[in-house]
Amino acid sequence: MLINVTRSSMPSFEEYCEEIKDLWDSHWLTNMGAKHKLLQAQLETYLDTPHVVLYTNGHLALENIIAAMGFPKGSEVITTPFTFVSTTHAITRNGLIPVFCDINPADYTMDVAKIEALITDRTVAIVPVHVYGNLCDVDAIQEIAERHGLRVIYDAAHAFGVSRNGINAANFGDASMFSFHATKVFNTIEGGAVTFREDLVQKMNDLKNFGIRGPEQVAYVGGNAKMNEFQAAMGICNLRHVDDEIAKRKAIVEHYRSRLSGIPGIRLCSDQPGVIHNYAYFPVVFDGYRYDRDQVFERLAAENITARKYFYPLTNNIDCYKDLQTAGAEKTPVADYIANRVLTLPLYADLSLEDVDRICDIILN
Ligand SMILES: *Cc1c(COP(=O)(O)O)cnc(C)c1O
Repeated sequence: MLINVTRSSMPSFEEYCEEIKDLWDSHWLTNMGAKHKLLQAQLETYLDTPHVVLYTNGHLALENIIAAMGFPKGSEVITTPFTFVSTTHAITRNGLIPVFCDINPADYTMDVAKIEALITDRTVAIVPVHVYGNLCDVDAIQEIAERHGLRVIYDAAHAFGVSRNGINAANFGDASMFSFHATKVFNTIEGGAVTFREDLVQKMNDLKNFGIRGPEQVAYVGGNAKMNEFQAAMGICNLRHVDDEIAKRKAIVEHYRSRLSGIPGIRLCSDQPGVIHNYAYFPVVFDGYRYDRDQVFERLAAENITARKYFYPLTNNIDCYKDLQTAGAEKTPVADYIANRVLTLPLYADLSLEDVDRICDIILN
C-alpha cells in the first residue's frame, strides 16, 4: 500500500456537511461571511493574538503583508534559502531583492550570527522561516532588527500551534504568515492568515479585496485573496480536532526517534527548550550513513513510500533566480550541505506505528 509523505486532516463527512448546511439558507458564499468571521475569532483565541486576517492561501497572505509594509522597490530583504519557493517569490514579486542568509546546523533556521554581515543601507526587513515548525531565535532576530531599524516578518507556514514559554508563534516580530494548505498541520483546504503587532486589519482586509475600502472607495491597488465560506467551514471543523491531531503526530515522531536516534550517520532534530512543538515534519539528515539521501529516497520509493527532499533545491539555486546577484548555493554552505542530505519522512496524524516501523526497517536494513 502506498504511504505518502503526508495526508490531509479532514473532519468526518457528517461534521463538514453539518457545518456548511446553513450556507444553503444564507446563499452567502464568500466576502467575509459568517463562517469567515467565526473562524477568524476562533483563531484569534487559539493563536492568542489580537489580530488575525484570513486569506485564500498562505502565499498571498505573505505577499500582501510584505506589500502592506510599503518598502521602496529595489530594497533588500534578508531571508533564508532553506524554504519553500513561496517565501522567496513573495519577496521578489513585491519588487524587493532577496538576500540569502545561511542556516544553523542545529534546527535549520536562519543563523543569527550571519545576519548582520548581510545588512546594507538598502536592507529594510528580515523574513525568517520557522522551518519544520522549529522556532527561529526570535530574541536575537528582534534585537538585530531593532538595532538596525528593520522590520521582521515571519514565514510561520509550518508553525501553527507552536509556542515558546507560553507565547504563541503568532506573536513574534512585526507580523507572521500561517499557511492552512491541505498539507499543513491545520488546513482550510487552501488557506492562510496573517497576524501582526500593529493594527493592520483594515489594510490587510482591503488588500485581499481589490483594495476596496467601501462601496465607493478604493484605497489600494489590491488583488483578490479572500477566503471563502467553504474553506472557513473546513477550518472551523479542523480546529476542533487540531490538538488531538498534534498529539497523534507527537506519538509518531517519538516512535520515529526511538527507532532512528543514536544511529551513526543519521541526524534528527530534537525539541527546542521551552518550545511546545506541532510535529509538522520529520526531517532526517543522512550525513555519512551507509546510504546517501538519494539512495534512501529510492529504496523507500521502491516500497511505495514517498519521502520528500524538503528543501531541495535551495531557493537561491533554482532556475528562476540564477541571474540574481545574491543567488548561489555556495554563499550558504550549511544550507547547501543540509539540502543535499535531508529527507522528510511520512508524517500525518493517522500514520500507524506499524507503518513507522516498516519505514524504519527499510532505512535501517
Ligand atoms: C506552504 C508554505 C507556504 C505557502 O503557503 P500556501 O498556503 O501553500 O500558499 C509558504 N512558505 C512555506 C515555508 C510553506 O511551507
